Amino acid sequence: MAEEQDSRTSLDTIAVHSGDWAVKHPGRPGAMPIYQTTAFAFDNLEDVEGVHSGELKGWMYYRVSNPNRSAFEEAFAQLEGAEMASATASGMGAIFAALITATGAGTHIISDKVIYGSTYGLLTQHLPRLGIETTFVDTSDPAAVRAAVRPNTKVLYFESISNPMIGIPDFASIANLGRELNLTTMVDGTFAPPYLVRPCELGIDVVMHATTKYIGGHSDALGGMMVGRKDFITQAASAAMMFGATLSPFDAWLNVRSLKTLPLRMQAHSRNAQIVAEWLEEQAKVSKVYYPGLKSHPQHALAVRQFPKGFGGMLSFELKDGNHAKASRFINALQHIPFMPSLADVSTTINYPASTSHRFIPYEERVALGITDGLLRLSVGIEDPSDIIRDLETAFAAL
Ligand SMILES: *Cc1c(COP(=O)(O)O)cnc(C)c1O
Repeated sequence: MAEEQDSRTSLDTIAVHSGDWAVKHPGRPGAMPIYQTTAFAFDNLEDVEGVHSGELKGWMYYRVSNPNRSAFEEAFAQLEGAEMASATASGMGAIFAALITATGAGTHIISDKVIYGSTYGLLTQHLPRLGIETTFVDTSDPAAVRAAVRPNTKVLYFESISNPMIGIPDFASIANLGRELNLTTMVDGTFAPPYLVRPCELGIDVVMHATTKYIGGHSDALGGMMVGRKDFITQAASAAMMFGATLSPFDAWLNVRSLKTLPLRMQAHSRNAQIVAEWLEEQAKVSKVYYPGLKSHPQHALAVRQFPKGFGGMLSFELKDGNHAKASRFINALQHIPFMPSLADVSTTINYPASTSHRFIPYEERVALGITDGLLRLSVGIEDPSDIIRDLETAFAAL
């Protein structure tokens, strides 16, 4: 239904104004609509000034911001208990924009050696071309961090729960070390969203997320988030905006919809993963289970202290005398759990790090990290845990 036009208005003009009525219709939507608009219209220049100065809440241009993105950012900052949050098109967009803000040509980063594959690629293939070097160490070892520090080191970078070994860093210790060495501490918090831990409150300077994973939670939206102090995030948001790493209104809308169930989902992921991890530990065909909620986990006590509400849905386990053929037989025998090179969906998925995320690491090095040919990573979903276990049982029977 087009808005009523003067009888002299041509078809061309009527066509151009189709849909205008929706904006002017009285009554407001009960849920947030998607503002799929590249620019925002103004009635006068005073309002333009007001929006620019921040006196008026408003938006100018899609790449800079839009209402769906603002809703996502404002909610996220509150969930993290941080001053400010800024959304990006993807997790990698957030990681790049945040890293480039804290560094520059002629500077140096100290990164943990177990990090997400594309982040490793960014640090080793692309940032060096901009004059930014990286040294990889075990960031939970303060002596290793100290030994790697150079006069031009700016950043200490790590991940909240390591993939796929599910190791737990001590956030407060790393924050203290970073402060002492005058480094910006930055964590990729993707595996442990704000319901589980709020790193800024433990002293970490900047948190980045691939909201593509637990925040979105349904494998249907890409997104990234940068969280921290207002001065830093303002600069990082400006970098993301000028690099064009802009989150689309639809992806922002999907992420906001998902935030509403984040606590419920994280409770279910954590409860189910605990049940599945304990069950796996009893299986004769399993030699090792890695989950922070197990007493056998090397950082169990730290995990309990740091993640008081649960440990999330990520776990790994090793098949006894495992190899590629056995892992393959196991995955093929699963009826309901698909192999998926992603994680954090509401449904359970399985991954084989040796042929996906870690395939390019030389064999000896990979095995030294614990990523053997018998290691499987499970992203435990929110189904009834007995159904997850029944599917795993079928797969063990096929070995
Ligand atoms: C998926 C992922 C990323 C990258 O996120 P994208 O949204 O795909 O860019 C970064 N870090 C971790 C730990 C991830 O799992």
